[in-house]
Amino acid sequence: MSLVIENATVVTMNAAREVLRGVDVLIEDGRIARIGRNLRAGKRPRQTLDASGCVVIPGFVHGHLHACQTLLRNRADGLELLDWLRERIWPMEAAHDFASMRASADLTFAELIRGGSTAALDMGTVRHTDAIFESARDCGFRLTGGKAMMDAGQGVPAGLRESTKASIDESLRLIRDWHLSEGGRLRYAFAPRFVLSCTEELLREVAAQAKALGVRIHTHASENATECDLVRQRTGRDNVEYFHDLGVSGKHVTFAHCVWLTAKEQRLLRETGTVVCHCPSSNLKLASGVARIPELLADRVQVCLGADGAPCNNNLDMFVEMRLAALIHKPRTGPTSMSAQQVLEMATLGGARALGLEDELGSIEPGKRADLAVLELDCPHSTPGGEDVVSQIVYSAQSQNVRDVLIDGRVVMRDRTLRTLDLDAVLEAARTHAQRIADAVA
Ligand SMILES: [Zn+2]
Repeated sequence: MSLVIENATVVTMNAAREVLRGVDVLIEDGRIARIGRNLRAGKRPRQTLDASGCVVIPGFVHGHLHACQTLLRNRADGLELLDWLRERIWPMEAAHDFASMRASADLTFAELIRGGSTAALDMGTVRHTDAIFESARDCGFRLTGGKAMMDAGQGVPAGLRESTKASIDESLRLIRDWHLSEGGRLRYAFAPRFVLSCTEELLREVAAQAKALGVRIHTHASENATECDLVRQRTGRDNVEYFHDLGVSGKHVTFAHCVWLTAKEQRLLRETGTVVCHCPSSNLKLASGVARIPELLADRVQVCLGADGAPCNNNLDMFVEMRLAALIHKPRTGPTSMSAQQVLEMATLGGARALGLEDELGSIEPGKRADLAVLELDCPHSTPGGEDVVSQIVYSAQSQNVRDVLIDGRVVMRDRTLRTLDLDAVLEAARTHAQRIADAVA
């Protein structure tokens, strides 16, 4: 399959951060083959996609997401993290069955694709993780996912509590079934939920297995002050320090949030290359605090961006997260901090790093996977464009500007119509299953 995106403005996110105007992007066998002028002519027949007046960007990569929670949207307001988990989220996660999990994942990927997102690092709940992978397999989304691991903790419902051995065994089974399937589009990441829901034995085993198998680790760290106090009481150490001592740190590890860090923990993150995922909507809605992202970036800590779960956001929209990431730090660190360029980097290259796929994703360069979004920016809310298209994308664009989306060179949305998901059916299933879950916990 060969496709030419014609006559576009291309925000490459290459090393020079070039923006190329009036160029074509040639896609062959799922990868970007060339960027240049007049690429339509060639030996092989080529489909074309006219992008005149449009801007092509690398697809957004969420570094922290919970597809299992999307059906719980708009059902958990006004709570801080631990109450939010114990009173609302864990009981509703425990009420999922396989069909509702599939409906939740389908809704997730429909929303993400419509918003220009092409990949995510996802944490499931304890059970039914196959339904999330099956959904991603069928709709073409690029997923690195894993089941939540929960073998300890207060307030965990019986439906989520598991033994250490069962948690490890099920994770290894999922790795065998899904890791590197669909040509590498689907990958596994161990997902111990957070320190408070995991035994030390489990975390040590995850650290060892991840290294042995070359699989990533995705967890939450230092999201909420009470959580940090409880971690200190239980372990005698700060959250990131504790993880590091057990072997849970490094370039293959992503920590969501990191709102409450000591100077020592920040140094550990930098020295180990551990990726931090900033989730501004979630941190605001759960009143967790505001992570010191400008300081982390200045210290060369790897930072990406993510929506977290629908019930703490309540969207899965990278434009929303970019806008907040660009705005919420400025009152404290000044108007030039968190530039549009830095924020777009977090949403693209930063996310690629969170998946360990920085050589494959995150920029538009020959050889990389063709995961792209085509934006139509001539809408009232994003016009006139000014001189800096990156600024226009971060500060004034919205998900409704996304016209077409490609993943692995496959067109999964064309002219705002999803091609691999039946949107009406997805919405109907989401409403039905969400109501069943709500009734089950009422
Ligand atoms: Zn989360």
